[in-house]
Amino acid sequence: MSRVSLQGVAKSFGSVQAVKDVTLDIPDHAFVTLLGPSGCGKTTTLNMLAGLERVSRGKILLDGQEITDWAPHERGMAMVFQNYALYPHMDVYGNIAFSLKLKKTPKAEIEQRVQRVAKALEVDKLLQRRISQLSGGQQQRVALARAMVKEPKVFLFDEPLSNLDAALRTRMRIEIKKLHQQLKATSIFVTHDQEEAMILSDYIAVMKDGVVMQYGKANDVYRRPNHLYVGTFIGKPRMSILEGELRVSAEGGEAVFEGEDLRLAWPGSAGTTNEGVAGAVSLGVRAEDAHLVPAQDAGPDTLVGDIALLEPLGSDTFVEVVRGRHSITARVEPDAAVFLGDRVGVRINRAKLHVFDRESGLRLAV
Ligand code: ATP
Repeated sequence: MSRVSLQGVAKSFGSVQAVKDVTLDIPDHAFVTLLGPSGCGKTTTLNMLAGLERVSRGKILLDGQEITDWAPHERGMAMVFQNYALYPHMDVYGNIAFSLKLKKTPKAEIEQRVQRVAKALEVDKLLQRRISQLSGGQQQRVALARAMVKEPKVFLFDEPLSNLDAALRTRMRIEIKKLHQQLKATSIFVTHDQEEAMILSDYIAVMKDGVVMQYGKANDVYRRPNHLYVGTFIGKPRMSILEGELRVSAEGGEAVFEGEDLRLAWPGSAGTTNEGVAGAVSLGVRAEDAHLVPAQDAGPDTLVGDIALLEPLGSDTFVEVVRGRHSITARVEPDAAVFLGDRVGVRINRAKLHVFDRESGLRLAV
């Protein structure tokens, strides 16, 4: 059992409120990511969990027991840092064994545990090497081994992959995921990379300016972002946003969107809620929910415009279609016959629309 709770946790450094109010329940075995741009308070939150930073307000609980003021070594958590924080003057064995020696673990047991994790992380052939003789990826493995050998209740990862080149980063990401599937230890991971968060996480907490904007299952956060900020932060390519006015008629629920030089309409449907909604909105559409059609097949739910950009990725191609000030990106098959400058239609499925209040950014149920 390793359930972690943060209850109204806040941290100030003088007049800087790094973390304003974070409440999170992290279930046993879960892989949770704190995701957000630089400076939003991710690392400070992780440091408070580790006991490296004192909490200004709020509580931290581990399996229901308050640990807010416990020393780092009493918490049963192991942290993997961005810069690895390995001891450069020691060899790999010494680095991995360090925490066990500190605890006066019997020599034979240290040997056995170091060998076991070294094997699991494929650094068993490097045990006598000095840290300076290792590549970035190997150092990362040693840092993981050093955390793993402690057999912690909770792993804390502070952007552990950000110093690696793109290819290695992708590989290590998979290894961390596999490791979690094997060990099933509760893991809390900090990153600003939304793709990394989506790939690794069971749950994602999207942070901004010291608060959690949304916390939920990774797929729910992607499919039902509760705020414009979350919708546009998560997802690649970025969610397209059309600015305009939306009206949902009280009779039958027909929805009409009007932006500058653009009108889109969808007939009413039985399940429509919030009839009579009207106002300035940001209409969000994900590329996989925008369907390219020939311009002559355009219906009332279709934006007609010109192809301004093609992004072929091999597996998919993303097509940016522009009409005046509006721009929308659609996903098409890689072999689709689409060309720069073509006039095309983008059909938008009403059921997949994300409607956000323009002023507050909050999601509207339409
Ligand atoms: P990054 O991804 O760049 O590490 P982050 O989301 O992890 O960013 P934090 O490092 O937690 O953000 O910092 C949050 C805010 O608190 C920032 O404005 C930062 O400048 C400030 N801050 C962090 N540590 C301190 C400190 N020791 N003293 C003063 N301000 C700090």
